[in-house]
This record gives sequence, structure tokens and C-alpha cells, in this order.
Amino acid sequence: MTIGKIGVVGAGTMGNGIAQAFAVAGQDVVMMDVSEAQVQRGLATIGASLDRLIKRDRMTAAQKDAAMARISTATDTSALSDSDLVIEAATEDLALKLKIFADLDAAMKPDAILASNTSSISITKLAAATKRPSQVIGMHFFNPVPIMALVELISGLQTSAATYARAEEIAKAVGKTAVKVRNHPGFVVNRMLCPMINEAIFALGEGLATAAEIDEAMKLGCNHPIGPLALCDLIGLDVELAVMQVLFDGFKDPKYRPAPLLVEMVEAGYLGRKSGKGFFDYS
Ligand code: NAD
Repeated sequence: MTIGKIGVVGAGTMGNGIAQAFAVAGQDVVMMDVSEAQVQRGLATIGASLDRLIKRDRMTAAQKDAAMARISTATDTSALSDSDLVIEAATEDLALKLKIFADLDAAMKPDAILASNTSSISITKLAAATKRPSQVIGMHFFNPVPIMALVELISGLQTSAATYARAEEIAKAVGKTAVKVRNHPGFVVNRMLCPMINEAIFALGEGLATAAEIDEAMKLGCNHPIGPLALCDLIGLDVELAVMQVLFDGFKDPKYRPAPLLVEMVEAGYLGRKSGKGFFDYS
């Protein structure tokens, strides 16, 4: 199957991971961000990721070069005008995404599909910002994209069956398994994962056990490959808090209230691995 021309908006953690997945699967991809520095940083991350695969004998240097050659970069949405599918993976900010969707809608071919990798913003709302609401869908990849097998495909109220089918084909073509999800706060995975992590933070705050003990208990007792607090450090405490806020606001149910310790740690700037300190120390 030919999956057509693919564009990715955002060259950050998710955008460069998505671009890498397409390039390694043999697809040309245009990766766009706001500045040359951002796209170069994204390209460097992809290069380093492929170098690790070479080191582990899972890729040859020639395969890396071929994959890198499939990625072109841009700093303007006009470069995406002939794309058949654009996956938006820009910063999680509603006003920003509404603007990007309106810009893409104006720049792209009438039959092209617009997807968002958003973790928490309503696909229905993003679709409504365009003149092609039936061709808007959520393609929620997981971090790190080259490794994680799942894509949640989120249909907004307006998303057509044809758009869903096309997105599913494209997800398969990059080796991902799609799970169909209706547009609703947190979709499926974050709806369950983030409250579990939040509960672990409540347990820590209430002094049930230490962070290391809570993680050990969940690894050995539930066979989880990583404890909930170490996972929160990996995701980012700010991101965990933002998702809990979305669930709390979306359902108006106190069971989703963010743990006070989570709020306070974010206030302190303890964001996990990216800041060097979260529930564990990375300095
Ligand atoms: P990030 O901060 O690493 O990258 C965001 C990138 O978007 C930055 O490079 C930024 O310069 C760029 N950007 C901002 N405005 C832009 C614009 N107008 N045009 C083009 N690029 C622009 O963020 P991330 O973690 O990659 O998250 C991106 C999206 O993916 C968010 O919607 C987030 O909710 C979602 N997501 C994140 C994860 C995760 O674990 N990090 C997992 C699933 C989904």
C-alpha cells in the first residue's frame, strides 16, 4: 500500500519519534517546527536513536543513512501543502493547536487528513477549527514512539469512517497496532494510567511506604516493568498533573483530583528526569 506524503508538525520528543518511525518504515516524511534550531535538534535525536540501534546490531549504517535521507525538514506550514496526512505533535496547548489546525486546513489539499497526537485535547474541538472536520482524527502515539506498539485512534464526533480506515492503514504501515477510541477525556490509556500514578503519589504523600518501596511493590506485585513513580518521572510530573486536571475538569469527579504532593512537586520545579529530580534523583 502506498501511504502517500506524510508531514509531522513539531520536532520534539513525539514529533521526532513519529518522523523516525515513518522513515525507518521506508516512508518519506517532512518534519516541521518553528525554527531551524528545533528541527536540527529533532534530527540529531533521531540520528542518536538510530546509532543506538546500530550499536545493538539492529540496523546497519547504510540503513540509517537511508532512513535519515527520507526525512526532510521545514519551518513553515507551506512545506506541508502537498501532504496526504499531517500528524500534529506540537506543544500541548489548546490555543496553539487551534491555530495550527486552522493554518494547516488553509494550506493543505482538500482531501488530506489532519491528525493530532494530543494527549488530552478534544479531537472534536480541533476538528471544529477546520473546514474539513470529517477528515480530522486523533493519532495518539506513545513515548518512545519507535518502541511502543500502540496508537490510539480517536474519532471525534465529526470523524468519518473513511478517515478512520485510512489512519488505521497508515498506523499499520508503520508497524503499529491501532485501538479504536471514542473522543473522551484521557482517551483509554491515560484515563487508567494517570489515575494509577496519581494514586501512587497519594500513597507516598500519606506515608504508606517510600517511593522505592511503592515502585518495588508494583513491579513485583503486578508484574509492571517499571514502578508508577519512576514512570511518572519519565513522563514528567507536569504532564501527569496536566492530564489529571483534564480528567478532573472533564468528568467533574473528585476521584480524579490531583494528589496534593504532585501539585507541590510541580510548584517546586521537580518535574522528573527532565529537571534532574522527581520522586527519584537523576543528578
Ligand atoms: P515537546 O515539547 O518535546 O515538543 C513540542 C515541539 O512542538 C517543540 O519542538 C516546539 O518547538 C514545537 N512547536 C511549538 N509550536 C509549534 C508550531 N506552531 N509549529 C510547529 N511546531 C511547534 O512535546 P512532546 O512531548 O513531543 O509533545 C507533543 C505532543 O504529543 C503534545 O500534544 C503531547 O500531549 C503529545 N504526547 C506526548 C507524549 C509524551 O510522552 N511526551 C506522549 C503522547 C502524546
